[in-house]
Order: sequence, then C-alpha cells, then structure tokens
Amino acid sequence: MQYQSSRGQSGSVSAAQAIVKGIAPDGGLFLPDHIPQLTMEEIKSLAGLSYQGRAQYIMQQFLTDFSADDVRSCVEGAYNSRNFDHDKIAPLVQLEEGLYILELWHGPTSAFKDMALQILPHFLTVSLTKTGDDNEIVILVATSGDTGKAALEGFRDVPGTRILVFFPQKGVSQVQKLQMMTQEGNNVYVAAVEGNFDDAQNGVKNIFASDEAANALGQRNMKLSSANSINWGRLLPQIVYYISAYADLLAEGSLLPGQKINIVVPTGNFGNILAAYYAGRMGVPINKLICASNANNVLTDFIKTGIYNRNRSFEKTISPSMDILISSNLERLLYEVTNHDSEKVSGWMQELKDQGCYSIDEASRNMITDLFWADYSSDEETIARISRTWQQYSYLLDTHTAVAVDVYEKYHQVTGDNTMTIIASTASPFKFGASVARAVMDMPDKAGEFELLRKLEEKTGWEIPNGIRSLEEMVVRHNTITNVADMQDTMLTLLK
Ligand SMILES: *Cc1c(COP(=O)(O)O)cnc(C)c1O
Repeated sequence: MQYQSSRGQSGSVSAAQAIVKGIAPDGGLFLPDHIPQLTMEEIKSLAGLSYQGRAQYIMQQFLTDFSADDVRSCVEGAYNSRNFDHDKIAPLVQLEEGLYILELWHGPTSAFKDMALQILPHFLTVSLTKTGDDNEIVILVATSGDTGKAALEGFRDVPGTRILVFFPQKGVSQVQKLQMMTQEGNNVYVAAVEGNFDDAQNGVKNIFASDEAANALGQRNMKLSSANSINWGRLLPQIVYYISAYADLLAEGSLLPGQKINIVVPTGNFGNILAAYYAGRMGVPINKLICASNANNVLTDFIKTGIYNRNRSFEKTISPSMDILISSNLERLLYEVTNHDSEKVSGWMQELKDQGCYSIDEASRNMITDLFWADYSSDEETIARISRTWQQYSYLLDTHTAVAVDVYEKYHQVTGDNTMTIIASTASPFKFGASVARAVMDMPDKAGEFELLRKLEEKTGWEIPNGIRSLEEMVVRHNTITNVADMQDTMLTLLK
C-alpha cells in the first residue's frame, strides 16, 4: 500500500516514509491510497483474538512494507501489562441496555492518546531502519494537554529520537501541566507557550515549514517528525479499538453480525472520530458517527451547514483537550468524501488559511450529513451530565467523555434512534479531577488539586491512577516559557 498527500503534490510514499515524515512536504496529510476491506466473517474471527492479535491483523493491512514480525514486535512493545492497567487494553463497559462506554484511558498517562502514542515510537523505529535514515529524529509536538504527556512517555529514552513538546501555558489542567513539567528521560524537552493551543499548533506548523529550521537541524544531523495526529502512525492504532469493540459485542452475543451501531466521539482535532470513520469504511456497520464538541463548536456548525468558519472567539472550557478551532484531521475526511480530489481540498485549506473560512460543495456535504451528526455541550451541561451519570449508573465521567454522553442524550432526544451505541471515553476522570469532584460533591472553592482527587477517590471508590497519584511528589524539571514568535529559537536552544 502506498500513501499520498491530501494536497496531491507529494507523490506516493511507503507507510514507513509517511510515518517518518509525519506531515507531507506540500503541507497536506498522508492517506492510504485505498482502504482495506474486512468481511463480517473476518470481523467475527477477530472476536476470538486478544486485543493484541486484533491490532496486529488490522495494522498489517496498512503497513504492507512491515513484516509480520515487525508489526508483532510493535504491538507487543506497546500493548502490554507494563503500560496498560487493564488486560483488555480498551474495555467496553455497559451503562444500560444498548449503551456502552469504550474506555480508552488505561495506558500510562490516563488519556486515550496512549492508545496511539505507546505504539508510534515503535512504528517510527522500525520505519527508520526501512528508510535508511541515520539522522536523529526530533519529535515536535503541540499539545492541548494530553498528547504532550502521552508523547513524552512514549518517546522517553527511545534511541535515535528526541522529543520537544510545546503546551499552551494557560490552556491545560493542573494535572496535565504537572505531568509534563515533571517528565523524566534523557531526550525530553518541554516548553510552555504564551498563547492558546491554536497558537502553539500554528507555531509548530511554521517550524515544520521553515527551511531555516530544517537547515539548522540538518547541520546537527537532526530531522523533524511529528507525533501529532497529523501523523498516519497516530491514526492507524485508533482504528483498531473501534473494530475491536464491535468484535467484543459480537463475541458476547450483544450484536448480530452486520447489525449497525452508533459511535459517539468527544472531538477536538478530529483524529479519533476519523479513526471511527475508517473503521466504518473497512467494514464495521455504522449507523451514525456522532461528533461531540464543547463551546468551541466549529465542527458542529460545519457538519450542520457545510461551512467551516474559525472566525470566532476561542473559548476556554473544562474540557481543554477539545479547545480547538482548527481541526487538522478534517482535511483527511474531505479528501475521502471528494474521492481524493486534492485540488478541491487544497483550495479549501488555502481559504481556511487566508480567510479562516471555507464552504464545501453540495455532494461532499451530503456524504458527510448522511453519516455524521453533531452537537455541542456547554460547561454547565457537562458538569450536570457528570453528576447525573454518577447518580444514574455510579459511573464517573471525565469532562471530555461527559460532553460526548451529553451530546448523545441530545441526539437520542431529537431522533428517538435506539441503535446500539458506543461512546468513546477519552480520559480517566482523575485527569480532570477538579471539575469532576465539583460535579459529584460539595467542595470548598479553595481546595487544592490533589486534595480534591483524594476526596473523589474516597467518595466514589474509584482509584486514582498511579501515574497521577505519584505526581504530587515529583520534581519539576522543565520551566521554559516562550512566546509564539520565538518558538523556533527556543527549539534550537533547547536541543543544544
Ligand atoms: C485529544 C483528546 C480529545 C480530542 O481528540 P481528537 O482526536 O483530537 O478529536 C478528546 N478528549 C481527550 C481527553 C483528549 O485528550
């Protein structure tokens, strides 16, 4: 299988090359030239395998330049009991008849980003041997909070790599910030950016596009790559858990082969829901993909109207990992629904860059509205949903997952659709514990973050994940702050 850029100007490359490059040289995103198909028989037979077995089977179809041993060693290096605290890796929990939560946060940093970022370094190491690249790879990341920590954990002390993470100084939770500032490892660098996530992301995109940066790094035998969800190696592992969830439901007899499901995804950069779309294209029967946003509801408007308009104020919410106005991975969906029309896609992306706004054609729009449904929830609704879900089901939602559950309730009210539904749960409630604690119990305004987490644990009987519990005692090792304009210089200084 070959990969090509959504902007059409980068030729065809192997999976290994797409993973090493991260972003295509023409500024587009790499996509597979076709989508492998799974028959219902194949999905049924996956039900008999472990998560690791399923992952291997599915990933191999996209990584045709990897040997079976390559793929197996990547999968085993990532999804094991050292890294994940649940033997099913991505377990389904039933809330009620026909409604399931897919818990994607059993990895080391307690957010779903681990599902991809535990395996990406393995993909990259294998890919580097195939492309014959002997530069040191510098992984450059802009994070809205969770990617940064997950990437730092994934890449720490991986030979031949260094990792530099930029996070928005005021855009992440206290736990997220501490997780990054205390990061250990010999090849890790962290800097706070004076700005929001879009500022940090744009700064990183500019560095990727800068010949000056490439030359300066080249002189040190270093080369940039990306661990953001623009890297195909991030997206591929996410396809696996949707297929795996369907296989689990088949295995337990909750679904008949071929029966359709809805999937609800709390969405920011559009990576996770795009993976659900690919699972559907591969053969998982999908009724609706429900795109849930917070007050930064650009995607809600886009899916409802076909107009993407980022010219609006950036809202800081209690679900910070979804505080995004430019959802990069949407470009991949546009490429798919236009049947790989890179000229059209490039045009829209140029309009987005120049005017902050673009409008898609009728046919593409219909393709999207046939499959997707979208809405958003405010912070108040999110808090109320955490509280309500705890009372109803004794199930504790984090703020992002709560947005998804709340939007699903809206969908259910509006449509009356009773199709079996899976809601992607993207973080442990303790990762955003301050908001969650306030939703389920009365807490004094001045209570410290860790005090809140302990009270939450006491009240609910849910355990604080180890990686979060240990933060309180860890030493801060990264104090760099940079403004957006200086990000490139900051990078070159840190990487000395
Ligand atoms: C990153 C993240 C999201 C958004 O996922 P995208 O793939 O960017 O749409 C949602 N919830 C949490 C907890 C996250 O970390």
